[in-house]
Amino acid sequence: MADYLICGGTSYVPEDGNTGAQLFSTGEGLTYHDFIILPGFIDFTAEEVDLTSALTKKISLKAPLVSSPMDTVTESEMAIAMALCGGIGIIHHNCSPETQAQEVMKVKKYKHGFIRDPVCLTPQHRVSDVFDVKKSHGFGGIPITEDGKMGTRLLGIVTSRDIDFLEPNSDKLLSEIMTPFDDLVTAPAGVSLDKANEILQRSKKGKLPITNEHGELVALIARTDLKKSRNFPNASYDANNQLLVGAAIGTRETDKHRLELLVNAGVDVVVLDSSQGNSIYQINLIRYIKNTYPELQIVGGNVVTAAQAKNLIDAGVDGLRVGMGSGSICITQEVMAVGRPQATAVYKVAEYARRFGVPVMADGGIASVGHIIKALALGASTVMMGSMLAGTSEAPGEYFFSNGVRLKKYRGMGSLEAMDRKDTQGAAADRYFHGEGDRIKVAQGVSGSIVDKGSILRFLPYLVCGIQHGCQDIGAKSCSMLRSMMYAGELKFEKRTVSAQREGNVHSLFNYEKRLF
Ligand code: IMP
Repeated sequence: MADYLICGGTSYVPEDGNTGAQLFSTGEGLTYHDFIILPGFIDFTAEEVDLTSALTKKISLKAPLVSSPMDTVTESEMAIAMALCGGIGIIHHNCSPETQAQEVMKVKKYKHGFIRDPVCLTPQHRVSDVFDVKKSHGFGGIPITEDGKMGTRLLGIVTSRDIDFLEPNSDKLLSEIMTPFDDLVTAPAGVSLDKANEILQRSKKGKLPITNEHGELVALIARTDLKKSRNFPNASYDANNQLLVGAAIGTRETDKHRLELLVNAGVDVVVLDSSQGNSIYQINLIRYIKNTYPELQIVGGNVVTAAQAKNLIDAGVDGLRVGMGSGSICITQEVMAVGRPQATAVYKVAEYARRFGVPVMADGGIASVGHIIKALALGASTVMMGSMLAGTSEAPGEYFFSNGVRLKKYRGMGSLEAMDRKDTQGAAADRYFHGEGDRIKVAQGVSGSIVDKGSILRFLPYLVCGIQHGCQDIGAKSCSMLRSMMYAGELKFEKRTVSAQREGNVHSLFNYEKRLF
């Protein structure tokens, strides 16, 4: 009290909280749980907060959100949804180079409203197959093509109305119940979305197949999609107005072939996927890519120290991926005794990399909107997420039930299950083992399941809105302002004791429901 009187009026404000530099000067490793950000002054609405952030030196995103290259998180469907909502997806490489390149191509060729890879069946399939598709994919309008694939002759369509009164185990042939091609309303390849919409409305049908001049199915438009179709004003586009997409590769000689296919497919950024990125293999590959594809953006990693970052920055990376051992499915710290608590890793690497204009992606350990805000406040430009996005309808894999709960698989890329996946050319294992000679695989991840989260198209707007509100409370009108406030020492942090963490969570209730949006 005396202090206030001596200093006079309200002009004096006592020092309170710690700067970022002070918070991380003690030598202890901190996680996102271990600290909190002190609130600032609000003179703008949350909606005004600009979340534009750099992914790499040359690519910036309207939302600082990246989906992890894991085979239970990012294939084309996730990457499309991420890009539509302003972020970006990184296609995993636990598959053949051709399959990965195809996934990249699907994103680059995506046109909003057109389904490019609908599930198709043949006339020889049975009604029970339609029920199976309906159960796993949740819809009932299925094009019938010559060999059950896109790109072959369209022969008819089966909709829910055709099977409404049939038993789910009926073995009736689809040729007997489908609406044949001659009775279908179709539109020619190249039709605009507006025109297709008009045709659908006039025909009163649920599905509009798009065929080329040979009668082959090239796309499908669904009435339900059109109804929920909306604009994505923040979508991430390249100069040709195609969605941005990234892909992960390993650091072996064979990855050069994979890289060539990805570049030909139009990939915008490659993420060099190593759990410990500070290696001669990665440095050599960065130099190779910079020589061979000078326009391609490279994110190197993973790193958790400035010394590791230095080598990759010197080799020419355009962005850094930070994190070792913080992922939800990760047992690296336990098994290898190496890694770093994530908040410290992000702060230390970002603080170093900013001198060279290299943006940092905080990868792993993000379990809430609050963690995203903390990562950005510590200097990260973007965050990469696995578990937050797994379990959504856009994540690869089918839903299944366990004890009445709808689940999807989520597994570490260093889990034995992922490393043993056939048709991958050992891509997942490459992330964890350097050199060619590793025989016995030592797991660095686990395999599990995660609860159904619905569609990414609903979840990402919630994340974006949450980040904007967090920035508003802090008094930062943009992501870049958040970082500059931190480096100027204006942003204040405080460590949280275990009881402070307990207090910051829901407590003292008999029971409660936690609905986030
Ligand atoms: P999450 O967002 O906490 O689930 O973490 C996802 C991140 O964990 C990924 O982006 C990878 O960096 C990392 N990761 C993925 N698989 C494994 C693994 O098997 N072991 C260790 N880390 C992994």
